[in-house]
Amino acid sequence: MKAEQVIIVGAGPAGMATAIQLKRYGINPLIIERLRAGGLLWNANLVENYPGFPNGVTGPRLVGLFTRQAGNLDIGVTQAEVIDVNFTDGSFVVQTAHDAYRTCVLVVATGTRPVSLTHLVVPKGLRERMCYEVYDLRQVEGACIAILGGGDAAFDYALNLSRKNRVTILNRGDQPKCLPLLWERAQKATNITYCERTQVVGLIQDDLPGLRMDCQSPAGELQFHADYLLVAIGRVPQLDFLSETFLQQAIALEEQGVLYRIGDVKNGIFRQTSIAVGDGVLAAMKIYRYLKEIA
Ligand SMILES: Cc1cc2nc3c(=O)[nH]c(=O)nc-3n(C[C@H](O)[C@H](O)[C@H](O)COP(=O)(O)OP(=O)(O)OC[C@H]3O[C@@H](n4cnc5c(N)ncnc54)[C@H](O)[C@@H]3O)c2cc1C
Repeated sequence: MKAEQVIIVGAGPAGMATAIQLKRYGINPLIIERLRAGGLLWNANLVENYPGFPNGVTGPRLVGLFTRQAGNLDIGVTQAEVIDVNFTDGSFVVQTAHDAYRTCVLVVATGTRPVSLTHLVVPKGLRERMCYEVYDLRQVEGACIAILGGGDAAFDYALNLSRKNRVTILNRGDQPKCLPLLWERAQKATNITYCERTQVVGLIQDDLPGLRMDCQSPAGELQFHADYLLVAIGRVPQLDFLSETFLQQAIALEEQGVLYRIGDVKNGIFRQTSIAVGDGVLAAMKIYRYLKEIA
């Protein structure tokens, strides 16, 4: 089994910031990422609250800068999904599909996963027309896209996609729950239609290309056709790979200074890049002190 000093699970802003700060202390962490470095930030249309960018910065551009900085520091990312973690004999065993690693310090920076559309049956032929992140539609142009949701992500996705597509937001609530400035921008965008108190009750594959959504609304039953459906109805912490037994040990391990949960995975509704980055730097500073103490 490979032995590491520090393992970071997740290469989003939180994991990357931890690695960058650890490098400053001469510590080389192993970062394990199942998809792509940058995490959820790939989906952000315009980040306007990250200091240093007076005119805002797109999520993908900010990811590019993070990864360039990591590259300059020789921080590599191992592509794999962590599927299990155990704490035995004073250290962690981190399991991926092909490898197992032992480490004395573990950082869990796995962010969130989308809430799934469980109340609807998605016909097999429509599955590739439905997604949960705007990243999956980044190449799509000239399409008609429906977005389910009424919060920041739904409106941010709509503004992003409306540059090259026609977008309809279907919100089952009776008002938008997004930042007022996103709402104002969406109202001004000619390519965005907003429907509230509109609940999708059926997804149908009919004779037309794309998918049909049967909806209930105050105006009665409605049907919408779209080329794609993007679901943005909430996110929950990504902790599926940790067992109940491990989660029960977690608080004690955090108190010992060997386990860190950082960024969106633990920040509830306060999910922002700068908070995730701050968590990462703080964790790295604590890890450095801990490793010095036990050396
Ligand atoms: C539409 C949208 C707009 C946004 N706009 C802004 C904004 O304007 N300003 C702002 O500050 N923030 C914004 N955010 C939020 C920002 O993207 C997040 O707060 C930030 O990405 C959180 O970083 P993180 O590292 O905690 O988690 P994430 O970015 O979610 O990264 C977690 C990483 O862990 C990986 N992972 C998960 N499980 C495993 C596993 N088992 N094994 C290996 N890897 C795993 C994931 O693949 C992912 O790459 C926006 C988000 C969205 C969706």
